[in-house]
Amino acid sequence: MQAKRDGTESEAPDESRQSSVAEKISIYNFLPVALLGEGTYGQVFLVEDINTGKMYAMKKLDKREIEEQNMMRYTQTERNILASIDHPFIVKLFYAFQTSKYFFLIQEYCPCGDVSKMLKRKKKLSEHEARLYIAEVLLAIEHLHSNGIIYRDLKPDNIIIGEDGHLKLTDFGLSKENADSDFTSNSFVGTYAYAAPEVLKQKAHGKSLDWYLLGALLYEFLVGLPPYYDKDQELMNDNIISGALKMPRLLSEEAKDLIQRLLKRNPMDRIGAGADGASEIKAHPFFDTIKWDDIINKRTKLTFKSKKKVVRQDIPIDAYIEAIGTADENRVENWSFIRQQ
Ligand code: ADP
Ligand code: MG
Repeated sequence: MQAKRDGTESEAPDESRQSSVAEKISIYNFLPVALLGEGTYGQVFLVEDINTGKMYAMKKLDKREIEEQNMMRYTQTERNILASIDHPFIVKLFYAFQTSKYFFLIQEYCPCGDVSKMLKRKKKLSEHEARLYIAEVLLAIEHLHSNGIIYRDLKPDNIIIGEDGHLKLTDFGLSKENADSDFTSNSFVGTYAYAAPEVLKQKAHGKSLDWYLLGALLYEFLVGLPPYYDKDQELMNDNIISGALKMPRLLSEEAKDLIQRLLKRNPMDRIGAGADGASEIKAHPFFDTIKWDDIINKRTKLTFKSKKKVVRQDIPIDAYIEAIGTADENRVENWSFIRQQ
C-alpha cells in the first residue's frame, strides 16, 4: 500500500517495500528435502518452508558460472518474467533471493514430474490427449507473446505437470523480453532436437520460433520422437534444415496439416506468424472439438497424475549450507522478490 497525499492508501506496488520484505526471506527459511533435477547452472531441489511446512521447488543458480558464460542477462530475464507473469499454465514464482555464490528461485512445486518423463513412460499420446496438452501450452505461449515475451526453449523437460495433471511451463532462462516489434537476432544455438531451422542457421528469429517448437512438441506427442530425429546430431541438424519430414500415415489429416503448418521452415510462412497470432492456430480444424474456455478454466480431464510420494533424501547438508556464504557480498540489484498473495 502506498500513502497518497490525501491521506488514503492506494494499491500501487511500492518497490522499496517489496524488496525490504523480500530481503527477510532467505535460504534459512527452507530445508532441503530431495533433488528434483540437475539444471544447467545448478540444481532444482524440493524444499520445505520451515514456518509453514509447505513444499516448493527451489532452483539454485551458480553466479560464477553465469558470469563466466556471460548469461547474467538471461538469468535476470528469467527472474523478471517469472515475477511478472500469473497464468494457469506457467509455473509461479513465490520468492527470489541470493547469497554471495548463488541466486535462488522458489517456485510452486509440481509433483508429477516433467513431460519428458511422462513421454518415457507413455511413449506417445493419443490425438485426444495430445490436443488437450497442446491446447494448454498454446494458451501459455499466447499469454507470453501478448506480454512481449518469446519463450524460445519449449521442449518436454521444460514442461512440468502439476498436482491436478495440468501443465506448466518452467525455465525461462532462454526467454526474451520486449520482443514486441521486429525480429531479433541471437547467436545462441542449441544442440538439441528442439531447434528451429532459423536458430540452427543463426538467422533472425521472432515469436513464430515458439510456434515451430509447438509443432515439434505435437509431433513428438503423436509420433514418439521429435521431428527429423537422428542419434547423430549433425545429421539431425541437416534434416531440420533440409530433410523430408516423416509423417506416419495413421495420423488424422487435421493433425498432419497442423504439424506441417507449424513446422514450415520459413518463419514467415508458419501458421501463427501473421497478425492474428495464436488465434489463427486456435482456429485450425485440429482444435475443432476444443472449447477454449474449458481449457483455460481447467475443466478438461487429464489422466496422467503420477504424483510421486515425497521421499526424503539424504541431501548432504554441507553442500546445501555452502550455498549460504555471506549475503552482503557480490550482491546483484533487483533480484529479491516476494509474490503478493
Ligand atoms: P534448467 O534451466 O537447468 O534446464 P529447469 O528450470 O528446466 O532448469 O529445471 C530442471 C528440471 O527440474 C526440470 O526439467 C524439471 O524436471 C525439474 N523442475 C524444475 N522446476 C520444477 C518445479 N517447479 N516442480 C517440480 N520439478 C521441477
Ligand atoms: Mg530446463
